[in-house]
Amino acid sequence: MGDPRDSRGGRSRADGSGDRSGAPRKEVEVSLSDGLEPIACPEKVMGMFGEYGISFEPGEIEKLGLYLAHLMAMNTRMNLTAIRDEESAWERHLFDALTLVPVLREMGESGKIVDIGSGGGIPGIPLAIVMPTFEFTLVDATKKKTAFLSLVVEKLGLKNVSVINSRAEGLGQDKGTKVLQGYTGGHREQYDAAMARAVGKVAMIAELTVPLVKIGGLVVLTKGEKADEEVAEAKKALHMLHTHHIGTVETPTGRVVVLEKQRATPKMYPRKDGEPKRMPLGIVNK
Ligand code: SAH
Repeated sequence: MGDPRDSRGGRSRADGSGDRSGAPRKEVEVSLSDGLEPIACPEKVMGMFGEYGISFEPGEIEKLGLYLAHLMAMNTRMNLTAIRDEESAWERHLFDALTLVPVLREMGESGKIVDIGSGGGIPGIPLAIVMPTFEFTLVDATKKKTAFLSLVVEKLGLKNVSVINSRAEGLGQDKGTKVLQGYTGGHREQYDAAMARAVGKVAMIAELTVPLVKIGGLVVLTKGEKADEEVAEAKKALHMLHTHHIGTVETPTGRVVVLEKQRATPKMYPRKDGEPKRMPLGIVNK
């Protein structure tokens, strides 16, 4: 029998996995900046929260400010937002995200909410900070962005957030694994609400979000001045997706379009990756 202590030169051998001496496979490398302090909330924005009826528990403002510090720092390394000054960022990212609070709270004390095309985490992360009894799932197709999101969620100690690197089209068709009574572990028709900001027009984003929500669930879209025009243009798409436009709320930073899913989504939606954007439902290409 040979000597099992085969330790020539003190180097251990790769056990059965072949020679892995090369550099690790090129994965997306993202790391957070060290030692960042929260960006303080400007008085003007504090006043806007007050007028809008949003109040905070102790520590939440600091957490929001710390998240913003990481978002702005990461933005120098990858393109997450066009807004570079801190006061505008508090207003146009954090306040804007939190304008959804009253709409989402109408659903009750808790619920499962998915943020499609979350990018750097807007609106999902600020909402998760101030709505700890709700569960948030942040979805983005870009690996670098979800890598940042996972790190920042960990840094902020957010227990109510999961991050998924996927296209919405795939998740919308993911029914999960078949078990005795139905399916488990999927995403289709699993959420109480879906939201999206700056991902696409209403007709397109409806196809990406509606399949993910339960019957009776909401789709909440952060929009700008074109909200009404886009809703009108999406009329046919909403009909095909068995979804109603139940209202548009005007906020200090834009408009929030609220849709409600009436019945199960036809199996064919969402279509294949890229189709909802390339050929939005019910819109004849001009
Ligand atoms: N909601 C964020 C980011 C908007 S940018 C904000 O308001 O700041 C749009 C994001 O949507 C990008 O990060 C892009 O990667 C993502 N995206 C676009 N199409 C997608 C799809 N089909 N599925 C998942 N993510 C998508």
